[in-house]
Amino acid sequence: MTLELTRAECVRRGYRRLVLLLLPAVVCVLLAIAGAWLWAVLLFCTVLTSITVGTLVPRCALFGPLVKRQPPGSRQPLLTIDDGPHPEHTPAILDILDRHGLKAIFFLIGDRAEQHPELVREIVRRGHEVANHTQTHPATTFWTLRPHAMWNEIALCQETLTRLLPEHAPRYFRPPAGHHNPFCVPTARALGLTTLMWTARGFDGTLRHTDYIIGRIQRKLTDDGIVLIHEGTPVCVEVTEKVAAMLAARAAQA
Ligand SMILES: [Zn+2]
Repeated sequence: MTLELTRAECVRRGYRRLVLLLLPAVVCVLLAIAGAWLWAVLLFCTVLTSITVGTLVPRCALFGPLVKRQPPGSRQPLLTIDDGPHPEHTPAILDILDRHGLKAIFFLIGDRAEQHPELVREIVRRGHEVANHTQTHPATTFWTLRPHAMWNEIALCQETLTRLLPEHAPRYFRPPAGHHNPFCVPTARALGLTTLMWTARGFDGTLRHTDYIIGRIQRKLTDDGIVLIHEGTPVCVEVTEKVAAMLAARAAQA
């Protein structure tokens, strides 16, 4: 199947899913017309809550399968780094990881990868993996995207990274802020991508207190866990240094 046919099929299925999601609204109206107001309100609230939780709670798999931790028996937490590449932070982060003998998955933004192709190649040259984090990273509006826009965000990033690294096409996808509406995970799957979430994060994308960030990650750390940190923040190099030291110390004890 060509990519264009896959796109058409994926978008068509997305709109069919949208119609199915709107069906309860029709039932609510019919119930209200019939005078069953209590049932109408109950149904409306249940559906609205389900859609909201399924979309906005990163680890909720209501709208498709997510990988939320490593396979059982894993012995070392997996480090994942979102939002790169960054001209200053990526080289510094790569040096830190080298110093601690750690490998990571870098979830890259397509637009930034196009601006810094040499950094994308350097990440892979140093033994790390690159993954898909959308083309433009529309963090605040990603959950509102309709099927065709969702396809464009994920497919364009996949195209960008595959063009830069033909032999290392991304295997994993992560939605911005972890928000995934009913069209997100099916679109990633249609593109052959597994949606990878996390078990430990310190909200370093928004907070600046590194002790709090590191403490929170440390409390949630498990052998089969997945750690999430970010590039492009004022504290990202410091956070990476501390998380890397923590993971290296844990590996040394294992
Ligand atoms: Zn992000």
